[in-house]
Amino acid sequence: MDRMFNKKMESMPKKQLREVQLKRLKETVKRVYDSVPFYQKKLKALDVTPDDIKTLDDVQKLPLTTKDDLRENMPFGLLSTSLDNCIELHASSGTTGIPITACYTREDIDVWSEVMARCLSMSGLTNKDVFQNPIPYGTFTGAFGFHYGAQKVGALVIPSGKGQSERQLKLMDYYNTTFISGVASYVVRLGQVAKEIGMDPAKLKVKNGLFGAEMFSPGLKKRIMDTWEMDVHDIYGLTEMCGPGVSTDCDQHDGLHLWEDHFLVEIIDPITLEPVEIEEEGEMVITTLSKTGMPILRYRTRDITKLYDQETCECGRTHVKHSTIKGRSDDMIIVRGTNMYPGQIESALMKNPSVGGNWQMKLYTENDIDHVKVEVESKQQLSQIETDELERSLQIDIKNVIVFTPQVEVLPPNTIIQEGLKAKRVIDNRKKE
Ligand SMILES: [Zn+2]
Repeated sequence: MDRMFNKKMESMPKKQLREVQLKRLKETVKRVYDSVPFYQKKLKALDVTPDDIKTLDDVQKLPLTTKDDLRENMPFGLLSTSLDNCIELHASSGTTGIPITACYTREDIDVWSEVMARCLSMSGLTNKDVFQNPIPYGTFTGAFGFHYGAQKVGALVIPSGKGQSERQLKLMDYYNTTFISGVASYVVRLGQVAKEIGMDPAKLKVKNGLFGAEMFSPGLKKRIMDTWEMDVHDIYGLTEMCGPGVSTDCDQHDGLHLWEDHFLVEIIDPITLEPVEIEEEGEMVITTLSKTGMPILRYRTRDITKLYDQETCECGRTHVKHSTIKGRSDDMIIVRGTNMYPGQIESALMKNPSVGGNWQMKLYTENDIDHVKVEVESKQQLSQIETDELERSLQIDIKNVIVFTPQVEVLPPNTIIQEGLKAKRVIDNRKKE
């Protein structure tokens, strides 16, 4: 029962937690019904009023909200308060369309800091830590969420910001950084750069890391743990909810606790939109329970996961756990009639100790047949014979996951260059019908 930032709330008996949720759900529905034309229209079309929310299951009477719904109302159409009451905005990248802009009131920033403080404390952060934040400070939510949360815990924050791997490593060494944040693939890169400049990441004082913003498999997590000799936790979140801070895994490293006093989670079948059974996989749908700037009802995250059927975790927390995100329903790839997620390929690769952290897969069409080519870096320079052997063994491991045999090319360390904040794992050059 240690490391809880807000012990009362984090270990609150389920029954009491449900009461908090129901009260806040009612308030949220009333708020959007009274002040957001988009939801007024949707609720009226379904003939639902705030009085119809009597139990938590009544959430299913509410309309789902999609990313397209948000886009159509950007930037300020979904606010439930006047812009005068908002003090900060953040936006998603918008690489696939209009960026999703979220406006925060002062209360929203307080809640965000609180949930981030809980996630960071759960990962081991204390006021004795030197916390380095190698995430671009900008309209992205990442850097600010970590920054606010770490300050709330009382750690010393180094806002080291974007990139420049060598500089990040030198700052770690100079300030005796003990805790780092960021994106998993970037930390893998930092580990490689360290070795190139003759620095052993394990010899630095960094003992903890909390990483998010992209799916990463338990295998990649273990890889980072071994290189840096640090404990690694996984954080989940999205701009539409607050940014990072929705959930994190505790020291059990078996599922992420989602803060149920601020978020009401459901898992639905992405096709039928019906709720699935507990412990069954589906798309995560979240309703904000405390947002006052831009509350959202039943947001379809597109992220595939499942909830754990567990009263209380070994760590003492009562908030529900979900599994590591398996992938986004949008990311599901169908090749030769087989469904697969990039995460499954990554898991297969990371089981092999000769594999480095970077990989990508290319899909292409040849003679009207879809092909998959997986490129992966080796951990160390290999001879031609070793390379051939590794390629063959990875082919078999991946075939076990995706049923047919892919092409595998093993490349020397540091040859797959990732641009941008998040690693791009899939390059789809297939001919579309
Ligand atoms: Zn736990």
